[in-house]
Amino acid sequence: MPLPHCPACRRRPHQIVIKADGTRVDFDRCGHAFTLTREALLTRLVAQLSD
Ligand SMILES: [Zn+2]
Repeated sequence: MPLPHCPACRRRPHQIVIKADGTRVDFDRCGHAFTLTREALLTRLVAQLSD
């Protein structure tokens, strides 16, 4: 399953933690982190698949 890249520097994510209120994506190498709603994550994945 493809994972969303860091929106700031486009690195691959280190880990994704799925919580009830959203999905937290952590980037080990660049130190960025962001939280996506389930819908936003799916939208991002679909957009990436259609690239
Ligand atoms: Zn980053």
